[in-house]
Amino acid sequence: MQRPAKFSISVVIPAYNEADCVAKVSHELTRILSTLTPDFEILFIDDGSKDGTFARVTELAAKDSRINGICLSRNVGHMAALACGLDSARGDVVICMDADMQHPPELIPAMVAAWRDGYDVVNMLRRNTAETNAKGDLLSRLFYWTYNRTSDVQIIPHSPDFRLLDRRCVDALKSMTERLKFYRGMVPYIGFRQTLMEFDCPPRFAGKRSYTIRKSLKLASDGIVSFSDVGLKLPLIVGGFISFLAAIYIIVSIVLVLLKITPLAPGWVSLLSFNVLSLGLNLTFIGVFGLYIGKIFNEVKRRPLYFVQTAVGKPLPRRADTGLLEHRGEE
Ligand code: UDP
Ligand code: MG
Repeated sequence: MQRPAKFSISVVIPAYNEADCVAKVSHELTRILSTLTPDFEILFIDDGSKDGTFARVTELAAKDSRINGICLSRNVGHMAALACGLDSARGDVVICMDADMQHPPELIPAMVAAWRDGYDVVNMLRRNTAETNAKGDLLSRLFYWTYNRTSDVQIIPHSPDFRLLDRRCVDALKSMTERLKFYRGMVPYIGFRQTLMEFDCPPRFAGKRSYTIRKSLKLASDGIVSFSDVGLKLPLIVGGFISFLAAIYIIVSIVLVLLKITPLAPGWVSLLSFNVLSLGLNLTFIGVFGLYIGKIFNEVKRRPLYFVQTAVGKPLPRRADTGLLEHRGEE
């Protein structure tokens, strides 16, 4: 595929309490992007930081018109901040990355070269995770294992939200109107020509990780619920299996009593165990249903994902539509 000689790049960076990182990342990005194209924008999405991140972004934007910032009205989470960035980015190529230098800017020329070779999505794969502890690693492996066995799309284990997207892919993602944005599943879902590039993930430049175990678990449950209905089918499978075992148990008990091998008085321990087991299973499945119903409840409200408080900088000029919407067969 022939790519245009002249193209623009938007780099979208969600930032939550990253005041000590934004200057470093924008300095590195400006240096590297200038070698690729004169038309670029670095777009920080301040996700309701409390440490003056947006004040730093405003200072940077005042000095360099290619640095832009959007300040959200509160902390909406990494995925929603990323959605805001994709909605606002205007480049022919959009690169999503973290603010903490864990996604090395020096890899961008290689990512753009892959785009020039005809790939529409360049997914980045972490080779090692310097900050991952054993507990987190076990949890994430369990998550990817479950996810890929139960969901409609296959996600690449340990692939972070560091990727290059062609404009058509950004428009495709924007046309997916669900409120719950799980880009690690949405990106494989859209298709197009995708490739994978490995990288070594360095430690954070400054500050501390804001993904707590609770936030990671929420992301994992969002990911499963939004691409898989296995939780809704599970009661049928487990319930059917337990009913089958119970039927055998009842038949065997009756035969043993009839043959006078055991007396009629049943063991109360086994009775109680079955009761407790069925109560536990019932409550678990009601809880899983609750997860799905909660997501449906949030989707039907159709509330905006984020509200913009203020914005600084000069965005890239508005670009022509890719024509993707016409091909969706919509009016
Ligand atoms: N982030 C965000 N909102 C949040 C949490 C994190 O925008 O509520 C951003 C954060 O500033 C960083 C990226 O998401 O740019 C990844 O977060 P972090 O480095 O804490 O997690 P990691 O993925 O490295 O474990
Ligand atoms: Mg990080």
